[in-house]
Amino acid sequence: MNRKISIVLPCYNESESIDNFFEVVIPVLSSVSSEFEIVCINDGSRDDTFEKLKAQRKKFSQIKIIDFSKNFGKDAAMTAGIDFATGDCVIPMDVDLQDPPELIPEMVKLWKDGADVVLAKREDRSDDTFVKKITAGLFYKVFNKLSDLKIPENVGDFRLMDRKVVDVVKSFPERTRFMKGLLALAGFKAAYVGYKRPSRAHGQSKWNYWKLWNYALDGVTSFSTFPLKISTYLGFITTIFACLYIAKIVFKVLFYGIDVPGYPSLMSVILFFGGVQLISLGIIGEYIGRIFIESKHRPIYVIREIVDDKNSSDVLLQK
Ligand code: UDP
Ligand code: MG
Repeated sequence: MNRKISIVLPCYNESESIDNFFEVVIPVLSSVSSEFEIVCINDGSRDDTFEKLKAQRKKFSQIKIIDFSKNFGKDAAMTAGIDFATGDCVIPMDVDLQDPPELIPEMVKLWKDGADVVLAKREDRSDDTFVKKITAGLFYKVFNKLSDLKIPENVGDFRLMDRKVVDVVKSFPERTRFMKGLLALAGFKAAYVGYKRPSRAHGQSKWNYWKLWNYALDGVTSFSTFPLKISTYLGFITTIFACLYIAKIVFKVLFYGIDVPGYPSLMSVILFFGGVQLISLGIIGEYIGRIFIESKHRPIYVIREIVDDKNSSDVLLQK
Protein backbone atom coordinates (compact mmCIF):
# COMPACT_ATOMS: atom_id res chain seq x y z
CA MET A 1 0.00 0.00 0.00
CA ASN A 2 1.36 3.39 -0.93
CA ARG A 3 0.95 5.91 1.83
CA LYS A 4 1.04 9.67 1.51
CA ILE A 5 3.81 11.66 3.17
CA SER A 6 3.31 15.28 4.26
CA ILE A 7 6.22 17.59 4.91
CA VAL A 8 5.49 20.68 7.01
CA LEU A 9 7.84 23.53 6.21
CA PRO A 10 7.75 26.78 8.22
CA CYS A 11 9.53 29.58 6.35
CA TYR A 12 10.43 32.98 7.74
CA ASN A 13 12.67 35.21 5.62
CA GLU A 14 14.16 32.18 3.92
CA SER A 15 14.47 33.50 0.38
CA GLU A 16 18.04 32.21 0.03
CA SER A 17 17.27 28.69 1.27
CA ILE A 18 14.09 27.80 -0.61
CA ASP A 19 15.34 26.79 -4.08
CA ASN A 20 18.12 24.73 -2.59
CA PHE A 21 15.72 22.95 -0.22
CA PHE A 22 13.36 21.74 -2.94
CA GLU A 23 16.23 20.73 -5.18
CA VAL A 24 17.41 18.33 -2.48
CA VAL A 25 14.13 17.20 -0.92
CA ILE A 26 11.95 16.49 -3.98
CA PRO A 27 14.16 13.68 -5.37
CA VAL A 28 14.35 12.10 -1.89
CA LEU A 29 10.57 12.19 -1.45
CA SER A 30 9.94 10.88 -4.98
CA SER A 31 12.20 7.94 -4.25
CA VAL A 32 10.26 7.06 -1.10
CA SER A 33 6.64 7.50 -2.15
CA SER A 34 4.66 8.30 -5.26
CA GLU A 35 2.33 10.42 -3.21
CA PHE A 36 3.56 13.31 -1.09
CA GLU A 37 2.86 16.95 -0.35
CA ILE A 38 4.90 19.79 1.08
CA VAL A 39 2.86 22.21 3.16
CA CYS A 40 4.86 25.45 3.25
CA ILE A 41 3.93 28.14 5.73
CA ASN A 42 5.09 31.62 4.94
CA ASP A 43 5.28 33.02 8.46
CA GLY A 44 4.96 36.70 7.60
CA SER A 45 8.30 36.92 5.78
CA ARG A 46 9.45 40.39 4.82
CA ASP A 47 11.56 39.20 1.89
CA ASP A 48 10.40 37.42 -1.29
CA THR A 49 9.94 34.00 0.37
CA PHE A 50 6.28 33.87 -0.75
CA GLU A 51 7.16 34.60 -4.40
CA LYS A 52 9.94 32.01 -4.29
CA LEU A 53 7.52 29.42 -2.92
CA LYS A 54 4.97 30.22 -5.63
CA ALA A 55 7.64 29.86 -8.30
CA GLN A 56 8.52 26.42 -6.91
CA ARG A 57 4.85 25.46 -6.91
CA LYS A 58 4.74 26.05 -10.65
CA LYS A 59 7.42 23.35 -10.97
CA PHE A 60 6.11 20.95 -8.32
CA SER A 61 2.36 20.70 -7.91
CA GLN A 62 2.80 18.84 -4.59
CA ILE A 63 3.59 22.16 -2.91
CA LYS A 64 0.84 23.87 -0.92
CA ILE A 65 1.41 27.34 0.47
CA ILE A 66 -0.21 28.88 3.52
CA ASP A 67 0.52 32.57 3.77
CA PHE A 68 0.19 34.05 7.27
CA SER A 69 -1.03 37.61 7.77
CA LYS A 70 2.05 38.37 9.88
CA ASN A 71 4.84 36.59 11.77
CA PHE A 72 3.38 34.21 14.36
CA GLY A 73 6.51 32.18 15.16
CA LYS A 74 7.70 28.72 14.22
CA ASP A 75 5.39 26.84 16.58
CA ALA A 76 2.30 28.56 15.18
CA ALA A 77 3.54 27.85 11.66
CA MET A 78 3.99 24.19 12.51
CA THR A 79 0.52 24.10 14.04
CA ALA A 80 -0.97 25.42 10.80
CA GLY A 81 1.05 22.96 8.73
CA ILE A 82 -0.10 20.06 10.86
CA ASP A 83 -3.71 21.29 10.64
CA PHE A 84 -3.61 21.38 6.85
CA ALA A 85 -1.47 18.31 6.15
CA THR A 86 -3.47 15.44 4.64
CA GLY A 87 -0.82 12.72 4.57
CA ASP A 88 -0.75 9.39 6.41
CA CYS A 89 2.33 10.70 8.16
CA VAL A 90 3.66 14.20 8.79
CA ILE A 91 7.31 15.32 8.99
CA PRO A 92 8.05 18.91 10.11
CA MET A 93 11.32 20.17 8.65
CA ASP A 94 13.46 23.31 8.65
CA VAL A 95 13.99 24.91 5.29
CA ASP A 96 17.69 25.56 6.00
CA LEU A 97 18.59 21.88 5.43
CA GLN A 98 19.62 21.46 9.07
CA ASP A 99 17.21 18.52 9.14
CA PRO A 100 18.92 16.24 6.62
CA PRO A 101 16.44 14.96 4.00
CA GLU A 102 18.64 11.85 3.57
CA LEU A 103 17.13 10.58 6.84
CA ILE A 104 13.60 10.49 5.42
CA PRO A 105 13.86 7.05 3.71
CA GLU A 106 15.04 5.47 6.98
CA MET A 107 12.33 7.23 8.98
CA VAL A 108 9.65 6.09 6.55
CA LYS A 109 10.97 2.54 6.70
CA LEU A 110 10.77 2.48 10.50
CA TRP A 111 7.25 3.91 10.29
CA LYS A 112 6.18 1.25 7.81
CA ASP A 113 7.68 -1.33 10.16
CA GLY A 114 5.26 -0.20 12.86
CA ALA A 115 6.68 2.83 14.71
CA ASP A 116 4.10 5.57 15.37
CA VAL A 117 6.73 8.26 15.84
CA VAL A 118 10.26 8.31 14.47
CA LEU A 119 12.46 10.81 16.25
CA ALA A 120 15.62 12.21 14.72
CA LYS A 121 18.14 12.48 17.53
CA ARG A 122 21.19 14.71 17.34
CA GLU A 123 24.20 12.59 18.18
CA ASP A 124 26.64 15.38 18.71
CA ARG A 125 26.34 19.10 19.15
CA SER A 126 29.96 19.82 18.31
CA ASP A 127 28.91 22.58 15.89
CA ASP A 128 27.03 24.46 18.59
CA THR A 129 28.69 27.21 20.58
CA PHE A 130 29.79 26.40 24.13
CA VAL A 131 27.03 28.53 25.67
CA LYS A 132 24.34 26.93 23.46
CA LYS A 133 25.49 23.44 24.42
CA ILE A 134 25.45 24.25 28.14
CA THR A 135 22.10 26.06 28.07
CA ALA A 136 20.44 23.38 25.94
CA GLY A 137 21.68 20.64 28.28
CA LEU A 138 20.51 22.62 31.30
CA PHE A 139 17.07 23.19 29.77
CA TYR A 140 16.43 19.48 29.21
CA LYS A 141 17.64 18.66 32.73
CA VAL A 142 15.47 21.31 34.42
CA PHE A 143 12.43 20.60 32.25
CA ASN A 144 12.56 16.86 32.81
CA LYS A 145 13.08 17.31 36.56
CA LEU A 146 10.18 19.72 36.96
CA SER A 147 7.66 18.23 34.59
CA ASP A 148 5.92 14.86 34.74
CA LEU A 149 6.24 14.77 30.99
CA LYS A 150 9.73 13.81 29.85
CA ILE A 151 10.97 15.24 26.58
CA PRO A 152 13.73 13.30 24.88
CA GLU A 153 17.06 15.13 24.94
CA ASN A 154 18.57 16.47 21.72
CA VAL A 155 15.43 15.79 19.71
CA GLY A 156 14.09 18.77 17.81
CA ASP A 157 10.93 19.17 15.80
CA PHE A 158 12.30 16.99 13.00
CA ARG A 159 10.40 13.73 13.35
CA LEU A 160 7.92 11.54 11.56
CA MET A 161 4.44 11.26 13.04
CA ASP A 162 1.77 8.80 12.05
CA ARG A 163 -1.70 10.16 11.26
CA LYS A 164 -3.08 8.99 14.62
CA VAL A 165 -0.37 10.96 16.45
CA VAL A 166 -1.05 14.00 14.30
CA ASP A 167 -4.75 13.86 15.13
CA VAL A 168 -3.95 13.83 18.84
CA VAL A 169 -1.59 16.80 18.49
CA LYS A 170 -4.27 18.66 16.52
CA SER A 171 -6.73 18.16 19.34
CA PHE A 172 -4.65 20.06 21.91
CA PRO A 173 -6.46 23.36 22.35
CA GLU A 174 -3.81 25.52 24.00
CA ARG A 175 -2.56 28.79 22.51
CA THR A 176 0.97 28.45 23.86
CA ARG A 177 2.31 26.07 21.27
CA PHE A 178 5.37 24.60 22.92
CA MET A 179 5.59 21.97 20.20
CA LYS A 180 8.43 19.93 21.72
CA GLY A 181 6.18 19.30 24.71
CA LEU A 182 2.93 18.86 22.82
CA LEU A 183 4.48 16.33 20.47
CA ALA A 184 5.89 14.40 23.42
CA LEU A 185 2.57 14.61 25.25
CA ALA A 186 0.90 12.62 22.51
CA GLY A 187 3.01 9.59 23.47
CA PHE A 188 2.87 6.50 21.21
CA LYS A 189 5.54 4.04 20.17
CA ALA A 190 8.76 5.82 19.20
CA ALA A 191 11.79 4.78 17.18
CA TYR A 192 15.00 6.78 16.79
CA VAL A 193 17.39 7.61 14.01
CA GLY A 194 20.66 9.32 14.89
CA TYR A 195 22.20 12.19 12.92
CA LYS A 196 24.73 14.94 13.08
CA ARG A 197 23.05 18.29 12.65
CA PRO A 198 24.79 20.24 9.90
CA SER A 199 25.12 23.99 10.18
CA ARG A 200 22.70 26.22 8.32
CA ALA A 201 23.13 26.07 4.51
CA HIS A 202 22.07 29.71 3.96
CA GLY A 203 20.98 32.73 5.97
CA GLN A 204 20.93 33.14 9.72
CA SER A 205 19.21 31.49 12.67
CA LYS A 206 16.06 33.32 13.80
CA TRP A 207 16.84 32.60 17.45
CA ASN A 208 18.77 34.65 19.95
CA TYR A 209 19.36 33.99 23.64
CA TRP A 210 16.49 36.20 24.81
CA LYS A 211 14.04 34.37 22.53
CA LEU A 212 15.40 31.02 23.67
CA TRP A 213 15.01 32.05 27.33
CA ASN A 214 11.38 33.02 26.77
CA TYR A 215 10.82 29.81 24.85
CA ALA A 216 12.22 27.82 27.77
CA LEU A 217 9.94 29.73 30.18
CA ASP A 218 6.94 28.93 27.98
CA GLY A 219 7.95 25.30 27.99
CA VAL A 220 8.38 24.98 31.72
CA THR A 221 5.26 26.94 32.65
CA SER A 222 3.13 25.04 30.11
CA PHE A 223 4.09 21.66 31.45
CA SER A 224 4.89 22.05 35.14
CA THR A 225 3.41 23.79 38.15
CA PHE A 226 6.45 23.08 40.29
CA PRO A 227 7.80 26.67 40.24
CA LEU A 228 4.56 27.72 41.95
CA LYS A 229 5.37 25.44 44.84
CA ILE A 230 8.86 26.86 45.33
CA SER A 231 7.57 29.79 47.37
CA THR A 232 5.57 27.47 49.60
CA TYR A 233 8.66 25.43 50.40
CA LEU A 234 10.80 28.54 50.84
CA GLY A 235 8.10 29.86 53.17
CA PHE A 236 8.21 26.72 55.30
CA ILE A 237 11.98 26.69 55.52
CA THR A 238 12.27 30.36 56.48
CA THR A 239 9.44 30.04 59.02
CA ILE A 240 11.31 27.24 60.73
CA PHE A 241 14.51 29.32 60.85
CA ALA A 242 12.56 32.37 62.06
CA CYS A 243 11.03 30.33 64.92
CA LEU A 244 14.44 29.07 65.97
CA TYR A 245 15.81 32.60 65.88
CA ILE A 246 12.90 33.96 67.95
CA ALA A 247 13.43 31.21 70.50
CA LYS A 248 17.09 32.20 70.72
CA ILE A 249 16.21 35.90 71.29
CA VAL A 250 13.62 35.07 73.96
CA PHE A 251 16.15 32.85 75.68
CA LYS A 252 18.82 35.57 75.59
CA VAL A 253 16.43 38.27 76.91
CA LEU A 254 15.22 36.05 79.75
CA PHE A 255 18.64 34.93 80.91
CA TYR A 256 21.05 37.68 79.88
CA GLY A 257 18.89 40.82 79.75
CA ILE A 258 17.93 43.07 76.80
CA ASP A 259 20.40 43.31 73.96
CA VAL A 260 20.53 46.04 71.23
CA PRO A 261 20.09 44.16 67.94
CA GLY A 262 22.39 44.96 65.04
CA TYR A 263 21.21 47.18 62.19
CA PRO A 264 23.13 45.33 59.41
CA SER A 265 21.60 41.95 60.25
CA LEU A 266 18.13 43.53 60.29
CA MET A 267 18.75 45.19 56.94
CA SER A 268 20.05 42.03 55.28
CA VAL A 269 17.08 39.98 56.49
CA ILE A 270 14.62 42.60 55.19
CA LEU A 271 16.37 42.77 51.82
CA PHE A 272 16.59 39.00 51.57
CA PHE A 273 12.89 38.51 52.20
CA GLY A 274 12.02 41.42 49.90
CA GLY A 275 13.87 39.57 47.15
CA VAL A 276 12.28 36.21 47.92
CA GLN A 277 8.82 37.78 47.91
CA LEU A 278 9.37 39.56 44.61
CA ILE A 279 10.66 36.38 42.96
CA SER A 280 7.64 34.45 44.27
CA LEU A 281 5.28 37.13 42.98
CA GLY A 282 7.09 37.05 39.64
CA ILE A 283 6.64 33.28 39.33
CA ILE A 284 2.93 33.59 40.12
CA GLY A 285 2.78 36.44 37.60
CA GLU A 286 4.30 34.25 34.87
CA TYR A 287 1.47 31.76 35.34
CA ILE A 288 -1.29 34.37 35.64
CA GLY A 289 -0.03 36.04 32.46
CA ARG A 290 -0.31 32.75 30.63
CA ILE A 291 -3.77 32.02 32.04
CA PHE A 292 -4.77 35.49 30.82
CA ILE A 293 -3.48 34.82 27.32
CA GLU A 294 -5.07 31.36 27.14
CA SER A 295 -8.40 32.66 28.42
CA LYS A 296 -8.71 35.15 25.57
CA HIS A 297 -8.85 32.36 23.00
CA ARG A 298 -7.16 34.47 20.40
CA PRO A 299 -6.23 32.67 17.19
CA ILE A 300 -2.89 30.85 17.09
CA TYR A 301 -2.45 32.08 13.55
CA VAL A 302 -4.28 34.08 10.90
CA ILE A 303 -4.08 33.07 7.25
CA ARG A 304 -4.05 35.63 4.48
CA GLU A 305 -4.08 33.23 1.58
CA ILE A 306 -3.92 29.54 0.80
CA VAL A 307 -2.34 28.51 -2.47
CA ASP A 308 -3.63 25.03 -3.12
CA ASP A 309 -5.47 23.18 -5.90
CA LYS A 310 -8.73 23.16 -4.05
CA ASN A 311 -8.57 26.58 -2.58
CA SER A 312 -6.57 29.21 -4.36
CA SER A 313 -8.70 32.26 -3.63
CA ASP A 314 -7.90 34.94 -1.09
CA VAL A 315 -9.44 33.82 2.17
CA LEU A 316 -9.10 34.92 5.72
CA LEU A 317 -8.92 31.90 7.95
CA GLN A 318 -7.91 31.54 11.52
CA LYS A 319 -7.56 28.95 14.20
N1 UDP B 1 10.80 30.01 11.43
C1 UDP B 1 9.48 30.42 11.28
N2 UDP B 1 9.04 31.50 12.02
C2 UDP B 1 9.86 32.17 12.89
C3 UDP B 1 11.19 31.71 13.04
C4 UDP B 1 11.63 30.63 12.31
O1 UDP B 1 8.72 29.84 10.53
O2 UDP B 1 9.40 33.14 13.49
C5 UDP B 1 11.28 28.85 10.63
C6 UDP B 1 12.53 29.12 9.82
O3 UDP B 1 12.23 29.67 8.57
C7 UDP B 1 13.15 27.73 9.69
C8 UDP B 1 12.74 27.07 11.00
O4 UDP B 1 11.65 27.83 11.51
O5 UDP B 1 12.61 26.98 8.62
C9 UDP B 1 13.88 27.03 12.00
O6 UDP B 1 14.41 28.32 12.22
P1 UDP B 1 15.94 28.55 12.49
O7 UDP B 1 16.76 27.84 11.49
O8 UDP B 1 16.14 30.03 12.61
O9 UDP B 1 16.11 27.89 13.92
P2 UDP B 1 17.35 27.00 14.43
O10 UDP B 1 17.60 25.94 13.39
O11 UDP B 1 18.48 27.94 14.57
O12 UDP B 1 16.87 26.43 15.72
MG1 MG C 1 17.88 26.15 11.47
